Amino acid sequence: MLELDKSDQLIDAYLAYILEANQRINLTRITDLDTAKILHVEDSLVPLQDIISAPEGLYGDMGTGGGFPGVPIAVKSGRKAVIIDSVKKKVNVVQEGVDSLGLSNQIDTYGGRIEELAKERKGAFAVLTARAVTQLVSLIELASPLLKIGGQLICYKAQTEQSEIDLALKVCPKVGMKLIKDYSTVLSDGNTLRRIFVFEKVSPAQLKLPRKIGAAQHNPLS
Ligand code: SAM
Repeated sequence: MLELDKSDQLIDAYLAYILEANQRINLTRITDLDTAKILHVEDSLVPLQDIISAPEGLYGDMGTGGGFPGVPIAVKSGRKAVIIDSVKKKVNVVQEGVDSLGLSNQIDTYGGRIEELAKERKGAFAVLTARAVTQLVSLIELASPLLKIGGQLICYKAQTEQSEIDLALKVCPKVGMKLIKDYSTVLSDGNTLRRIFVFEKVSPAQLKLPRKIGAAQHNPLS
């Protein structure tokens, strides 16, 4: 058997911890370890190379739930990270897992809305991810104030309607973002499609961001 490197061991230990914690608090509908290895770990790491080659600096995972893709990406990329979710109970569980693996110097958590963090940490992030959080147009708006110029937002999507992509492309100039990469892959289970969209922050937004709490998701720009 191939020997796992330290980062793989940490990720395996984190996954085991989350599956155990999932019996106390609902973090994931996936309870089987082998399935979780594919749908949480393998999937989280699909855009690892993009994250490694993004500009240097802080990494953030927006809407992390049980820590995916945030924890595997932070561990594998070695970047300082902030794992963000509005549900404090979930973030507390992620923080406990991070602490128990001895990663608290590298990975921090934020229990609050992305819009709130954006007021405190304007332009602080070099790269952000978001998996299964909201539609593209909302993600580019939420990410824009957090990113420095040249910073990147990596969106994990499944099948994506062309109308969702077109709306995001239309809104990109307003929020200072640009789509720079779009690719798809099928996970090793042979049937889960993962589509990745990479956006770059190319200029300041043309409107004041963040707008009020909830607006990006409930009243998207158009
Ligand atoms: N990214 C994880 C995954 O793929 O397993 C969790 C996905 S879960 C469907 C979406 C998460 O995004 C929820 O935990 C929710 O609380 C969080 N979320 C949605 N909008 C948010 C916002 N504006 N600020 C912070 N967290 C948000």
